[in-house]
Amino acid sequence: MLRTHKLGEADRIITLLTRSNGRVRAVAKGVRRTTSKFGSRLEPFTHVDLQLAEGRNLDIITQAETKSPFSAALGFDYERYTAGTVMLETAERLVSEEKQPSLQQFLLLVGGLRAMASGERCPGQVLDSYLLRSLAVAGYAPTFDGCAHCGREGPHRWFNPSMGGMLCSTCRLPGSANPAPETIGVLGALLAGDWPVVEIAEPRHLKEAGGLVAAFLAWHLERSLRSMEHVER
Ligand SMILES: [Zn+2]
Repeated sequence: MLRTHKLGEADRIITLLTRSNGRVRAVAKGVRRTTSKFGSRLEPFTHVDLQLAEGRNLDIITQAETKSPFSAALGFDYERYTAGTVMLETAERLVSEEKQPSLQQFLLLVGGLRAMASGERCPGQVLDSYLLRSLAVAGYAPTFDGCAHCGREGPHRWFNPSMGGMLCSTCRLPGSANPAPETIGVLGALLAGDWPVVEIAEPRHLKEAGGLVAAFLAWHLERSLRSMEHVER
């Protein structure tokens, strides 16, 4: 479940990311009645098994069975909840076309929410790793070693979201960020899921990496996500 909208008196339109059909919108009839057979199963963050029937405009949800109620683990922790909300919003934006299969995005999101709900890692690190990977799956893989423009071997000093990552001194654009070398190492580890490197990183490098990930995401989504403002860095 990515998002829900009210529809009429008692229904909702539910936006889903599905394993085999990509992003889908479907109607849940009567879901806002207290007697609804769906209960709280059709809320954001919940991983469900669904049955859909073809409707006139949108499909109609006929059955829902909870697989993982991530909402229960995320709903009680402000930091995890806000970071998880950014993940849902990002998945919805990156899977831009309805009913276009996006298995990799689906698996990344479920894996990311599971990591977020488990509480084993810092929410900001789970979020940043998810964001870099989902951008990479969407075709916007950032470059942290070679120069993103000319390909010259790094390490390089300049980061520019609009150019796709690190830039050498020749290709550097005005306004590029000049992160600490350790921060660039953290970014590469977050993208690769190299957690031992992330775990020993200093807070200031993790924080700087988070700011660059947010800038990179905002560039590719053509605006920053409102939900990102609530993530504490
Ligand atoms: Zn270059």
